[in-house]
Amino acid sequence: MTKYIFVTGGVTSSLGKGIISASLAKLLQARGYKVTIQKFDPYINIDPGTLNPYEHGECYVTEDGAETDLDLGHYERFLNTPTSQANNVTTGRIYQYVIDKEREGAYLGKTVQVVPHITDEIKRRMCLLGKAGQYDIIITELGGTVGDIESLPFIEAVRQLRWELGSNNSLVIHLTLVPFLAAAGELKTKPTQHSVKTLLEYGIQPDILVCRTEHHLNLDIRKKLALFCNVNINAVIESIDAPSIYDVPLLMLKEQLDKTALTKLKLSTKNEPNLENWKAFLGKLKNPTNEVTVALVGKYVELPDAYKSISEAFIHAGAMNECKVKVKYIAAESITENNVEEKLTRISGVVVAPGFGERGLEGKLMAIRYVREHHVPFFGICLGMQCAVVEFGRNVLGLKNANSFEMDPKTKYPVINLMEEQKGVINMGGTMRLGVYDCEIKKGSKVAAIYGKNKISERHRHRYEFNNDYLAQYEDAGMIASGINPKSNLVEIVELKNHPFFIAGQFHPELKSTVANPHPLFVSFVAASLAHAKAAKQK
Ligand code: GLN
Repeated sequence: MTKYIFVTGGVTSSLGKGIISASLAKLLQARGYKVTIQKFDPYINIDPGTLNPYEHGECYVTEDGAETDLDLGHYERFLNTPTSQANNVTTGRIYQYVIDKEREGAYLGKTVQVVPHITDEIKRRMCLLGKAGQYDIIITELGGTVGDIESLPFIEAVRQLRWELGSNNSLVIHLTLVPFLAAAGELKTKPTQHSVKTLLEYGIQPDILVCRTEHHLNLDIRKKLALFCNVNINAVIESIDAPSIYDVPLLMLKEQLDKTALTKLKLSTKNEPNLENWKAFLGKLKNPTNEVTVALVGKYVELPDAYKSISEAFIHAGAMNECKVKVKYIAAESITENNVEEKLTRISGVVVAPGFGERGLEGKLMAIRYVREHHVPFFGICLGMQCAVVEFGRNVLGLKNANSFEMDPKTKYPVINLMEEQKGVINMGGTMRLGVYDCEIKKGSKVAAIYGKNKISERHRHRYEFNNDYLAQYEDAGMIASGINPKSNLVEIVELKNHPFFIAGQFHPELKSTVANPHPLFVSFVAASLAHAKAAKQK
């Protein structure tokens, strides 16, 4: 029987429920359990696909094309197993389903209400992944903070589920904050007590408290928390600020979060977690022998969460190269013809980021021209690839004002065009080319050597594509389509022949980079940047 762990948050948001959930899952997986994590978000958007990254950070895309919360990225990076549509559910999706059913007449004669109709649908979704019998344990992270009006139906659903599942089959972990008051010189437990009280009002007694703190919790504090929150003393888990999110599983192991959880679920704790590979990764991460600075040119640079998967992919690829990768975020808008050289000095590689809309386009083109002409490693991702194509069209092929149809629908040279299948699309939500698509790699190309195979599949999220009318012209001039979708013939990768590393993909390789499997494009881009840095030093 599948067992369920629910993770709630108290006191404040941004305590890192996603990382705690992923860390616990990692430990359980390392003991041999089959685990997945799902996130229930209390907002009304059907999914975060239409949200500005400033609202909620990056939109993460699953293999099956769901546009999801960025925490799913953490789940995949930690567990190295893919998530799916079912792993992220919002209030909007729940209501949409119930209201559609109401219109169909499924509730004829009945008043449709939050309890039981909405809560029933939440419960059904919470158990969906468990039904397949594929998992031993399902961790459900509840977005938001206990006490918020909007998370009430989710909390009520958890209360009911706990009762239905019976004792020993589920547990609730409450993640809270134990703040340090500098003036008093002590850690304070009251916010946690209040937050647990709120949970109790809703009928839920948490089994485990995970306490975020900047200072170690001494025995007295632990006892106090245990006594006033009705939990065992070994169920008070310290979660101290860590140098990296990848340290958290080991910190949780030390605090025996996994053991406490398994004991409560009456599951065996016999197999110690096998974390050899994880520790080897951490060893490399913490003992780099080199350092390199790459620039990320984008539009949402004030909020690094907007590029979460890219920055994490650099951490994985850096460790693989035993190299610390410093990512310098550069606002595309700030780049001009006069300052591009200065902006990119001491930069050993440039990534042009994914994105939407025209803002910053000219700055991106300027950065690409510079790295193309100066043989600095370049890596274009999605919009970054489209920009590389536009730049090459304008400055090498002489197609004056060539552009992407997205930026200038009147351009004479739409070298990036709206995809055929997108032409009739009016709705904005969930209608892009989403999820994994196959790609065939050209023999003898740089990417063929990097991937070490000629068939790959990568995740997409876009409406525009390379315009094949121009393909011959591009290839003649040295920009090769080195990856092609075998079914639709869409160009998925371009690369330059006469450049040490100029590779751009229409897909998002960052979404598939995990601790266990750093993405080969990131790994080789870091290696190329490192080589560039070393060569520059010798000059
Ligand atoms: N705006 C571009 C498109 O829709 C690129 C999207 C992206 O970078 N994810 O095609």
